[in-house]
Amino acid sequence: MAQAHVLGLPRIGVHRELKFAVEAFWRGEMSATALQETGRQIRAANRRAQRKAGLDWITVGDFHWYDHVLSTLALVGGLPARFGRAPAALSLDDYFVAARGDAGQSAMEMTKWFDTNYHYLVPEYSPQTRFGEGTEWLFDDVAEALAEGGSVKPVLLGPLSLLYLGKEKNGLADRLSLLPDLLTQYERVLARLKTQGVTWVQIDEPILALDLPEPWRDAFTSVYHRLVPIAPSLLLATYFGDVSEHAALLAALPVAGVHLDGVCAPKQLDTFVAQWPQQKVLSVGVVDSRNVWRCDLTKARALLAPLADALGERLWVASSGSLMHCPVDLASEGRLDKQVRTWLAFAVQKLAEVALLRRSLDAAAFASADVSAAFVADATAQAARRTSPRIHNSLVQKRLAALTDAHARRASDYPTRASAQRAWLKLPVLPTTTIGSFPQTSAIRRARADFKRRALSHLDYLETMRAQIRLAVERQEAYGLDVLVHGEAERNDMVEYFGDLLWGFVITEQGWVQSYGSRCVKPPVIYGDVYLPEPMTVTWSAYAQQLTDKPVKGMLTGPVTMLQWSFVRDDQPRERTALQIALALREEVAALEKAGVRVIQIDEPALREGLPLRERDWPSYLAWAVHAYRVCSSGVADDTQIHTHMCYSAFHDILPSIAALDADVISIETTRSDMELLGAFEAFAYPNEIGPGVYDTHSPRVPSQAEMERLIEAALARIPAERLWINPDCGLKTRDWAQVDSALTNMVAAANAVRKRLSAGQRPALAA
Ligand code: GLN
Ligand code: ZN
Repeated sequence: MAQAHVLGLPRIGVHRELKFAVEAFWRGEMSATALQETGRQIRAANRRAQRKAGLDWITVGDFHWYDHVLSTLALVGGLPARFGRAPAALSLDDYFVAARGDAGQSAMEMTKWFDTNYHYLVPEYSPQTRFGEGTEWLFDDVAEALAEGGSVKPVLLGPLSLLYLGKEKNGLADRLSLLPDLLTQYERVLARLKTQGVTWVQIDEPILALDLPEPWRDAFTSVYHRLVPIAPSLLLATYFGDVSEHAALLAALPVAGVHLDGVCAPKQLDTFVAQWPQQKVLSVGVVDSRNVWRCDLTKARALLAPLADALGERLWVASSGSLMHCPVDLASEGRLDKQVRTWLAFAVQKLAEVALLRRSLDAAAFASADVSAAFVADATAQAARRTSPRIHNSLVQKRLAALTDAHARRASDYPTRASAQRAWLKLPVLPTTTIGSFPQTSAIRRARADFKRRALSHLDYLETMRAQIRLAVERQEAYGLDVLVHGEAERNDMVEYFGDLLWGFVITEQGWVQSYGSRCVKPPVIYGDVYLPEPMTVTWSAYAQQLTDKPVKGMLTGPVTMLQWSFVRDDQPRERTALQIALALREEVAALEKAGVRVIQIDEPALREGLPLRERDWPSYLAWAVHAYRVCSSGVADDTQIHTHMCYSAFHDILPSIAALDADVISIETTRSDMELLGAFEAFAYPNEIGPGVYDTHSPRVPSQAEMERLIEAALARIPAERLWINPDCGLKTRDWAQVDSALTNMVAAANAVRKRLSAGQRPALAA
């Protein structure tokens, strides 16, 4: 009979215990002992949940204080040497210093874990890197689990992925050169697990789903020939993509089994089954570990049944990847819509789905009362989801069908629009503006929370928000900014705010997933056709516009970012959902324009991060992403000015697509790269207006006027003055008013100083 397991569980705890404990520890309000106790409880709860669900394997080693890449480095003594900590004696404090930095050392760099919204700490490899004895955490976690009995399966990030995901520093030519030294440590770890009595280890090599360079691919053979003889049985886990091009390689590896992601790449299963060696386990992920939908049991069983026939007990039924990317427990949702709830499954529910599917592969068990009842209940829920009027909105379908190419094109080209906009905006050269949000003070957050739990009347809430808008407008006028914003006080989050108001979205109460370290996000769930019942931002922006003669910029979140930072429906292609959001936003844009808000910014900070893992899939993604943006932004008159904003990533490789958005103005984060990004915009000859950030808003530090002047001069050396805007890198919601007052005063003064030099005819010099 097949076996059931998952690749990992969320480590944040049902009530985000990890976050609260770790943050209390950082503030010095919790002892290390108490923190350790919290970790023990989360791990125990996770083991309990797996046992209760009836899984055959209890997966352990998936709990980490900050990040699994950092923990793996700690295990093999590979923390960056610059922290100067003895690897074998690494304390929890030392571990957190590597993650967060301290007065002497900056934190390790953070980047996105494949195409998820989780961020890992990037290993630093230099010629000085030596691996060695590390911390004992994994052996402790295993011992803790073994003490309870049952079959314990530790999970460990594999050596090739650990190396590949790092960065070469201090002139190291090739991090693969560190492999022999690293393997000595993996041998030590795996041998030690074997001594502990572990029989199977899940070793994760997710890099197999990337465009893997030849030498890395080749290394798999020698690495696993070296590790297998001393290790417990190894289940080599791949996920996040199709690895069928490596099917022969994987079949030939001496590992005891391989895991495949059957959710994001179901087609690859046939390739593998056709050539799978007699003695090897094949673990097949059929329960989606990255989304919140209930598994279609009948469909999943139909996929598994032939595999079970072919493989017998060598088939393992699994989640597609680690469940850390989905919320913990649907049972924590008190107020969720009753029907939508029947369509969902969070991590705890997914454990049960995996176990149930495994049982259903046995004919007698499938016929049993409880299994057939579960299948019937699921079929009912799936059928309701297919036909529910909550999901399917004929008006949205009609509008989608009526879309033509003309909807994705502004009436005129950029030069024509620019002169129409200049005519009424009458902005000075180097116009100044901000990215949207102003400080989210505790008073603002309290007002929003009170209103939500009905402790504040609608009128009182409106008045509080209007007072914030008045304050923001007054201050912006005092700074001397040219294009103002209303400040976004009403928004808790740039995606959730809109998700709350659009049909087809539902907001959960406790649907948190880890973003990085102690930080969690709560993505909305897109369950149905997206529809705009009434304008979402017009009252706020129009109110701000009434208060001033300066133009006020309306603020929206773009379709790709809405999609990227939500749980997306799995019953239609992502691009169709993006287009529905675009149509809803298009109406919002029209409503703003009609209300006299004729500068409108549509933020797309997540455009770059939506890129698929494999480069071959980039063109089709970029095509639909750009199309969606153009659909939402093209319905306006020539003299309405469309802005967009991007941050968080390097954009060098997608400049043609950024230009294809055809926004009149783009503001981008550039301060930290010291305008380096602009070189790319110059080389590409970016055609429209551009506002490279001159103020790093992620830091409390207030830049001086001189610093910002230097950045403006550097920008002027690459972008003609007529197309250059002056603005911060990103929104100001995490700053306080004192910082914002000084920084924006300095920014406007810097712009004025440069304007003066420009009008005196001084050519900008390439800044040193
Ligand atoms: N308009 C948003 C703000 O200012 C943009 C945030 C972002 O780019 N992440 O907060
Ligand atoms: Zn930003």
